[in-house]
Amino acid sequence: MIRLLASTWLAAGLVVGTATAAEPVRSNHPDFPLEAELVAENVWAVVSPARGFPDPENRGWNSNAAFVVTEEGVLVFDTGSSESIGAAIADVIGQVTDQPVRWIVNSHPHGDHWMGNASLANAETEVIATSATREEIRDEHARWISMFNQMTDGATGEPRVVVPNRTVDERTLESFGGTEVELIPLGHAHSREDLVAWLPSQRVLLAGDVVYVGTAPGTFDANIRHWLDAHEVLLALDPGIVIPGHGEVGTREDIEIQKVYFDTLWNLTEEGYEQGLMDFEITPRIRAALQEHGIEQRYVNLDERLGESVSRTYLQVEEAMF
Ligand SMILES: [Zn+2]
Repeated sequence: MIRLLASTWLAAGLVVGTATAAEPVRSNHPDFPLEAELVAENVWAVVSPARGFPDPENRGWNSNAAFVVTEEGVLVFDTGSSESIGAAIADVIGQVTDQPVRWIVNSHPHGDHWMGNASLANAETEVIATSATREEIRDEHARWISMFNQMTDGATGEPRVVVPNRTVDERTLESFGGTEVELIPLGHAHSREDLVAWLPSQRVLLAGDVVYVGTAPGTFDANIRHWLDAHEVLLALDPGIVIPGHGEVGTREDIEIQKVYFDTLWNLTEEGYEQGLMDFEITPRIRAALQEHGIEQRYVNLDERLGESVSRTYLQVEEAMF
């Protein structure tokens, strides 16, 4: 993967001196020794090794974050599931730069992407999200906090809630401290309203949970058809590097793989529905097709997630029929 990233980066014609020299930076936080890896000029990925939902073992650290160091501050993309995780991310940022965190982007309302906000934001920080995400964090934060504590045996605690103070509901290209970032809302795909960030000069996509790499996408809150369609927007950007919400740092190819996954899920569910099959009867057909496409082998937690995703798709196929 490291070699792949380096070559992608070289192909993009960017300066590699600093990148190849930089070692991953490890947090000094006692509970979360997470690492930040430089994946492109001034762009760092903080990747969780977990591949499932928050649980007592991962203590809520199951999702990725990223940060971009600009000339006038740091932009943080997603902040983890607790103040401790947010503090560990703040610790690695502090090792890389003296710049303050001036911007936070919360990609979507799921608790593992914003519950660390309080450890990274100060009174001046612009906390950016779509209107729907802002509303859900403002109105339903208690539900997320309690759910995560149930899932982690209390490890995520009672984070102070920092509600986004700026909304972005249309594609917006903007300079953040001299670094161009395009914020792209995608509507209801993985969650009620997903927001991705695109760095055109580095050709890096900060994808949040719209992209999973090496692990089956979580669909419990998804609009499967819209998510499938959103792949066209992401592929049109032609990213060199993709930092997903869950899984290792990937490339454009991982978006293509995920598109085949959702294509297969939707088309075979629709076909089975038309033949009068139930969801559990369709699942083995989908599994066989995914195996043929080489996806079954790539998605480590497919067993856990496929049945639920077929059920969800089945209901949405049914809805689309009427
Ligand atoms: Zn999510």
